[in-house]
Amino acid sequence: MTAVQERLRDECRRLLESKEVDVILGYQRGTLPLRSAPLFARRPEDVERMIWDETCENTVSVYIPRLRGSRVGIVAKGCDGRWVVEYITENQVSRSALKVIGVPCDGVLSRRALEKVAGLRTIYEGHLEDGHVVIQGRGWKERVPIQEVLEPSCKTCVQKSSPIIDVDLGRVESPNPKGDFGDVAAVEAQEVDDRWDLFAQEASKCIRCYACRQACPGCYCKVCFVDRSKPTWVGGTDDLTDAMVFHIMRAMHLAGRCVDCGACEKACPAGVNLRLLNRKLEKDARELYGHVAGLRVDDKPMLSTFRPNDPGDFIM
Ligand code: SF4
Ligand code: SF4
Ligand code: SF4
Repeated sequence: MTAVQERLRDECRRLLESKEVDVILGYQRGTLPLRSAPLFARRPEDVERMIWDETCENTVSVYIPRLRGSRVGIVAKGCDGRWVVEYITENQVSRSALKVIGVPCDGVLSRRALEKVAGLRTIYEGHLEDGHVVIQGRGWKERVPIQEVLEPSCKTCVQKSSPIIDVDLGRVESPNPKGDFGDVAAVEAQEVDDRWDLFAQEASKCIRCYACRQACPGCYCKVCFVDRSKPTWVGGTDDLTDAMVFHIMRAMHLAGRCVDCGACEKACPAGVNLRLLNRKLEKDARELYGHVAGLRVDDKPMLSTFRPNDPGDFIM
């Protein structure tokens, strides 16, 4: 067990024994190699299952709105901590109802990247070893540096440590807090027809399963616009037009709120490049409004504030 994981268990046990929290959101080993699963630790003995390492890829902050009325502890990497801040600024949770246990995060493993290394071979076992991931199956074994198989969102992460921390188990500085939007800029440079074709190509893969919505901490509306029938905002089919409207409306709902945790893209079974669209809006929020989501609890939600010098070119 690593020193951080040991301290994590000690601190979580203390919080539960002293009844400072009712539940702690964290991670436990999953049933597949190199996969973890969310852990809802409610009793001190639950903490014995808690882990912290590069397999902890779930965005567990998504459960916070569902735990209203409880005092919640959360094992927070940077992206989860940013959602904690968003929830506070969006009045979804009170700061006093939370204990944020900040863990050092230098990226989490990408299931898809590991599957790419394995190719057509099945991964039966896997473990972490000296900055590498070792995966193996029947008659084969591969050892790859962890940095080569991280989630894409971790490679452009601007905030690797939670912006607010009550229990500090270590921090990692982001090498590029201003972000890297080279992929978005490359699309912006294309002709409008080419951009439309790219969007249509991505939307055409969508099977409207809504796994992206379920995984996203920002999609906490009691009734989502896609499920409303009076009026019907968008058809429920996988027809291309319906899919495009769904993605445009969802992206707009996340404008100035998305923290690029990558949970939506990880959850998508169809391989839709969801981050590209969301990051376009993230880039616009930065460049047009100087807004970066989930960094300061005293920030107001971007779309509910107005400054006289806000760009208004779109107003006729
Ligand atoms: S996006 Fe950042 S904070 Fe989140 S898992 Fe990746 S490196 Fe960690
Ligand atoms: S839209 Fe995707 S990347 Fe953005 S906050 Fe939601 S799950 Fe995370
Ligand atoms: S998870 Fe993927 S396939 Fe499912 S609705 Fe979202 S984009 Fe479409």
